[in-house]
Parts: sequence; C-alpha cells; structure tokens
Amino acid sequence: MLGGTSEASALARAIAAAGMAAEFSYAGRTLSPVGQPLPVRVGGFGGVAGLVAYLRDHAISHVVDATHPFAAQMSRHAVLACAEAGVPLLALERAPWTPESGDRWQRVADIEAAVAALPEVPARIFLAIGRQHLEAFRARPRHFYLLRLVDAPQAPLPLPHAEAVIDRGPFTLAGDRALLAAHGITHVVAKNAGGEGARAKLDAAREAGLPVILIDRPAIPARPVIRSVAEVMDWLAHSATPVKADRGE
Ligand code: NAP
Repeated sequence: MLGGTSEASALARAIAAAGMAAEFSYAGRTLSPVGQPLPVRVGGFGGVAGLVAYLRDHAISHVVDATHPFAAQMSRHAVLACAEAGVPLLALERAPWTPESGDRWQRVADIEAAVAALPEVPARIFLAIGRQHLEAFRARPRHFYLLRLVDAPQAPLPLPHAEAVIDRGPFTLAGDRALLAAHGITHVVAKNAGGEGARAKLDAAREAGLPVILIDRPAIPARPVIRSVAEVMDWLAHSATPVKADRGE
C-alpha cells in the first residue's frame, strides 16, 4: 500500500481487520505520521527501478496506490514498476470536487497558473497547498499568505509576508469559517484534492463569497481507479487468494 491519505489509513484498517499480510509505505514527509495497524516502511524506493526491486524482494502480489491525487510522481512510478514487475495495481482515489451554486472558483492547470491568477492589488490569501511549492509564490511578494502546515516549519518561511497555522485535517466548516474571518482572508488557493476532510475551506469560502483559485489534478498514466475501501477489499479478495498475516500465534 502506498499511503499518505485518510483513505489509505481507512484501507489499512480494513486490511488489518481482514488479517491480510500487507506493508504500508509512507514517503516520510511528516514528522509524526499517523500510526497504522500494518507494518510500516518509510521513504522513497529509489525511482521505478527501486520499486521494481522492492516488489520482487518482498514478493508483493498486489499494489494499492492510495497516495494523494497530487502525488503524481509516485503514482507514475507505481504504474511503470507494476507493469515491469507484472504485479496488478489498483488506485484508491477520491473523486475531485465539483462546484456548487455560489462557488466562485477559477480552475487553473498547475501551481504556476495559480500564481499568475492572483490579483494585482495586495490581497490576503489562504494558500492551502501544503509545504511544497511555496517558493513559486515568491513571484508575488505583495500579498499576505496564510499557510496551513502539518509540521512547524524548520526554516524561515519562503514568503516575506506569511503566517503558518500548524494543524492537520480533517477540518470543519466552523473551524475554517473562523480561520478565514480571523485572518481577513480575501482569496483561497487550493488543490482539487477531493474528499471530505479538506473540503471545509471551500465551503467556508462559498459562504463568505470569496474567490477560490483551484488547481487541477496532475495527469497520471492510465490505471484502474476505484473510489471506495470496500471495492479495494473486493478486488483483493477476488483477484487472488488472500495471504493470511503471520501473527506469531
Ligand atoms: P510525489 O511527488 O509523487 O513523490 C515524490 C517521491 O516521493 C516519489 O518519487 C517517491 O520516491 C516518494 N514517495 C511518495 N509517496 C511515497 C509513498 N507513499 N511511499 C514511499 N515513497 C513515496 O509525492 P508528494 O506529492 O511529495 O507526496 C508525498 C506523500 O505525501 C505521498 O505519499 C502522498 O500521499 C502524501 N500527500 C501528498 C500531498 C500533496 O499535495 N502532494 C498531500 C497530502 C499527502 P522514490 O522515487 O524514491 O520512490
């Protein structure tokens, strides 16, 4: 399992409850990742070749890519490595968000397009894109940026006029409503991650009538994608005989 999302954690619980042997993989981006009821490994595999070697060395029979929809490199590597190693792959991915009446979304292709879409006059931006890619916003230094990060930054923030709140989802509408109001936010920049826990900022923006610059998902090579943990469990149960975990009893 390639993890790093709440869906991955839900799937890990289902796999552990079913008594299947599995390994849960984290990239190692956060200081204290969510604990898992499965054996956990942390860190990159070393590209496609490294992942192929890992799949072979660990006699992996199935791969579930439950990474974040914006973790495109990992997902691309999984497609290539599974093809090379002859291991079936399934992606567990949330549906993207779609606008509701009252949403003021401007959809953009990528981070650079989000930077270009910012207003000319100084604004107060909730830059809800995580820790990576903040540097790109240095090109627009006149804005105030509110960041929300899982871990406290270890180095000065790369933006001259910025403040970070340290928090990890799931987030609530009441919480995000209060956050936008407390910081006088005028614009929201977000990735179209999908899912429930991160949606609150968009609902809060709609309520407040704020414009949202929403970054589209990166392209990932064709692969089978399903939306629910139950469907993954069905795939695991029916595409091969499940391997019972050795619990040492
Ligand atoms: P990425 O750009 O697609 O991946 C960069 C490299 O990190 C990969 O090539 C791989 O290294 C390693 N990697 C990524 N996910 C891994 C995993 N689950 N297990 C082992 N190695 C992994 O990914 P990213 O955007 O940096 O995201 C990193 C992790 O954070 C992902 O697991 C993702 O689920 C989670 N996450 C990402 C976002 C986001 O917005 N991007 C948001 C929430 C959570 P090698 O090439 O060496 O194998």
